[in-house]
Amino acid sequence: MQRKENPTLGMVIPCYNEESMMPRLIEELKVFAGRLGFPCRFLFVDDGSRDRTADLMFEVCEQDTQFAFLSFSRNFGHQTAVSAGLQFIEGDVVAVIDADLQDPPEVILEMLELWKQGYDVIYGVRRDRKEHAFLRVAYKLFYRLLERISNIEIPPDAGDFSLMDRKVVDHINRLPEHNRFVRGLRSWVGFRQIDFPYQRARRQAGATKYDFFRLTQLAFDGLISFSSIPLRL
Ligand code: UDP
Ligand code: MG
Repeated sequence: MQRKENPTLGMVIPCYNEESMMPRLIEELKVFAGRLGFPCRFLFVDDGSRDRTADLMFEVCEQDTQFAFLSFSRNFGHQTAVSAGLQFIEGDVVAVIDADLQDPPEVILEMLELWKQGYDVIYGVRRDRKEHAFLRVAYKLFYRLLERISNIEIPPDAGDFSLMDRKVVDHINRLPEHNRFVRGLRSWVGFRQIDFPYQRARRQAGATKYDFFRLTQLAFDGLISFSSIPLRL
């Protein structure tokens, strides 16, 4: 697989009430862009934040043309924010990262090496989870169940953090799903995929937006989107 000599990278960053993260995130992204060695665009998606997240995005976009943002009219949820970002992002290769720097941007530099070797999807797999033992068991059970009843296989410790070739993003965007379970769609579209183990950092500021209720909702979306068994039941 021949890749472009000088590709462009697009990065999608969903943000919900991340005002305490924004200054540090923007600094890190600028450092990352400096190390990258080719053009890069960052697309923030403000998921209906009620704090100053969108104002801070606006400020940086005025100062630096590498940054752009979308702003939702209300909170639609992480998966919708990532999906909207994927619809609008440009670039030969596209990364998805969280705003809280739990997914270290420098890992993308290593993922890019695999993309250059011909892999189309390089998805992060967390080396060790820092969550409570109960949640870890719940994650394992969920992914095992998903694998059993659907035709997709997602490792229990993979999330949305990934690098995708343009053609993969285009295929994901063409799928008609409304309730989008992005890591499921990413797995479902196929192409050459490889896992990339990495150390997931702690959230650097602010608090998680995924409480137990929202995690359960995400799990149900995953199960219902990729299997007709719940419907038959
Ligand atoms: N997020 C979002 N909309 C939401 C909830 C979260 O865009 O309704 C973003 C959030 O700002 C972060 C990412 O999704 O960039 C992951 O959320 P979080 O860090 O709270 O989840 P966790 O890492 O705890 O699973
Ligand atoms: Mg997080």
